[in-house]
Amino acid sequence: MENLITLDIGGTNIRAAHVIFGEGGLKIVRKLKQATSPEPIEVVQQLTESILRESTKDIDSVAISVAGIVNPKEGILLKSPNIAKLEGTNFRKLFEERYHLRCIIENDANAAAYGEKVAGAGREFEDFVLLTLGTGIGGGIVINGRLLRVAAEIGHTIISSEGPQCPCGNVGCLETLASATAVIARAISEIENGNQSALRSLYHGNFYKMNAEDIYKAALDGDMLARTVLKDAGKALGIGIANVVNVFSPQAIILTGGMIGAWNIYVEAAIREASRRAFKELISRVKILPSQLGDDAGLTGIAYLASETE
Ligand SMILES: [Zn+2]
Repeated sequence: MENLITLDIGGTNIRAAHVIFGEGGLKIVRKLKQATSPEPIEVVQQLTESILRESTKDIDSVAISVAGIVNPKEGILLKSPNIAKLEGTNFRKLFEERYHLRCIIENDANAAAYGEKVAGAGREFEDFVLLTLGTGIGGGIVINGRLLRVAAEIGHTIISSEGPQCPCGNVGCLETLASATAVIARAISEIENGNQSALRSLYHGNFYKMNAEDIYKAALDGDMLARTVLKDAGKALGIGIANVVNVFSPQAIILTGGMIGAWNIYVEAAIREASRRAFKELISRVKILPSQLGDDAGLTGIAYLASETE
């Protein structure tokens, strides 16, 4: 039996859970959530202390999944464009010194990929790549049944030499063309340029407030601009998937995140494009399917990683 705290640190929210491993596998005892801003490190400590206070069991470790590039060996968050205040934080040192808790840390998409491997859509595959399609695009790679503990920043692979500016400092990254942020930015700029769309009248004309779901709904209602924007983003995603397939020859690509709500336009366009661009011999055997664990994938994956790490 093992008792631990999991922390899922994202740009918008930080989720904490008290998790127990018993004979029946993983059990979530308690879940908490708080906004990341304005002081994420204080939120991390408040959530941790709240779980420690309420727990009657001996918690001995904390497992952290975080949006950014990590050094898992040393427990440091190296880079996180969306949570810049946490960059450089040595989580291992913090948790060992302040709470006497063992600490493991992993990138959030990597943790989600491992969660799907042990308890979700990845169970039946030895080799797959998970892509998180939301505000940005994250990646996690499982080969021979094991998580590759590498950066796997597939959202920042470059697919256009002169594409839009990316928060990472580069231009033309996959996520600048295929993420929810990219879809919204493109729709807004098309409207600003005078193109007709029902999206123009959203929010009493303040169309700058639109989200990706608004665009999908307009597309379903037959709005041509909304359809084009989603299809083009899907095509860009398809190029990204073709690259992944040609490099890793996976059995499956598992997709998760808010954008998969637009599956029948956006993901279908991606599948068509990937089929055209990747090696036929490879892409023809790849299953492209949605995640099974959704928001709980990261929590599940990081908890299992902690239980398997000495
Ligand atoms: Zn980038």
